[in-house]
Amino acid sequence: MKTNTIAVALVVAGLLAVNAAYAAELQAGAAKVDITDRDAGPVYGPLYAKALVLKNDETALVIITVDAVAIGQIGRIGSDYLPAVRSQIENEFGIKPANVLINASHCHGTVCADVAERTLEAVREAAANLVPVNIGAGVGQENRISENRRYKLKDGSETDSRRAYSAPPDELIAAVGPIDPEIGILRLDKKDGRTLAVVYNFACHPIEGVPSGANTADITGFASKVIEDNLSDGAIALFLQGSAGDINPAMYKDVDKPRDAEPLGNMLGLSTLQALRKIQAKPDDRLRVVSETIELPRADTAKRIAAMEAQQTNLLHSLKATDLNLKTFIPLAVKYGLSPEFPSYYAHRYLHEEMMGSEDLKKLDADNRENLKQYIENIRIMEELTRLQTNLDLLRKHQAENTAAPKRTVDVEVAGLRIGDFVLVTFPGELSVEIGLNIKKTSPHEFTFVAGCTNGYIYYAPTADQLNNTGYAQEDCDSLLAPEWQEMYQSRVAEMLEAL
Ligand SMILES: [Zn+2]
Repeated sequence: MKTNTIAVALVVAGLLAVNAAYAAELQAGAAKVDITDRDAGPVYGPLYAKALVLKNDETALVIITVDAVAIGQIGRIGSDYLPAVRSQIENEFGIKPANVLINASHCHGTVCADVAERTLEAVREAAANLVPVNIGAGVGQENRISENRRYKLKDGSETDSRRAYSAPPDELIAAVGPIDPEIGILRLDKKDGRTLAVVYNFACHPIEGVPSGANTADITGFASKVIEDNLSDGAIALFLQGSAGDINPAMYKDVDKPRDAEPLGNMLGLSTLQALRKIQAKPDDRLRVVSETIELPRADTAKRIAAMEAQQTNLLHSLKATDLNLKTFIPLAVKYGLSPEFPSYYAHRYLHEEMMGSEDLKKLDADNRENLKQYIENIRIMEELTRLQTNLDLLRKHQAENTAAPKRTVDVEVAGLRIGDFVLVTFPGELSVEIGLNIKKTSPHEFTFVAGCTNGYIYYAPTADQLNNTGYAQEDCDSLLAPEWQEMYQSRVAEMLEAL
């Protein structure tokens, strides 16, 4: 009898627990609005602002993704955009600013001037169409479309792969950095099983472009289109840029075929869909947001700038004397490459001269070889000067900004959120991939993802090691931060993850 009573009590308690878990319901609505600047020329792959509004009994959260280079500072979206959009959302829906997360895909397309108003249109439409949802989190894999853009050279310094300058000579390259092939996925299904929205997170600069050079949302725009086209009508795919500071599209410096973001985007979209099919959406109303402003140390690069200026002078002084110019260099380089033994005439003439005791052709070849060598060295010095100058300009720009700043720290907004099993932390800059990988590896939660370019923009956010680079690469020169920032951010994020 007693055993039965306990059994009944346990069953009742269990039912109550189940009821408590399912009583509160998660509601969601999603919408997208075109933000392409149609006056900026031809378009191939339009740009969108997309909004996902989520709500349970206690909390509301808005995730906005925009196909733009950044939220403020650079590109068309001004620094007034984030506060303006947030305060309007607070006025209209009572959702506090910290619960409005805005991520830029970092594509380099051109958005329209009224992007803020159009973003709000997307939010209004999403908020007007809230429906109960089931949700699920998971991961996919895509390792074909990205590559780390930094190279470690044999002298221990690093440089990177940009279209702004030449890559260093092959024989100087010792190693390359990692990528993050993981696609983080949040699936939101309506109660009838149709997919309402997919949020997906991946790390790659969407800067491939399209063959025509048209305005485009690039890789991630095409990926989102593939996802939306293959799900229920009206499904919205929202892309959250990851830790992509040092991640480029694969074969980024290819000059043998037109640059085309579409096949890369299709691969990312299909890999996301493949993973999505395995994610079970279930009732789950957990919705949590933590947000704070942290102070990160500003860099002082005065010594580095002085060292680079000295190096610039040394490089200039190391230019060699050479008889050649481009017009004479190219045919000689072809001849000496094609026929190293007899470059200047047919073999029989060399044999004839040898028989006559003459070395005229051999002497000419020795002179030409020396001139070719010097000319190539000059070219390499020019290439290095280009890399150095581009990055020195970036360092000087940020040093001026840091010197003029009212305090030695920069305020950054960092957010953490949980939607069911999907956990996300953010940063308002271009995080190097290693930082994202570190956060994922040490997180106590299975489905932890990292979004850079979120809620503002403070340029690149490289690792401490990268900031101590003795060479020059964009990530460590196009940054406001001192090396200590990495440890401060990662430990703060670790605390946030514990709280989520
Ligand atoms: Zn970038």
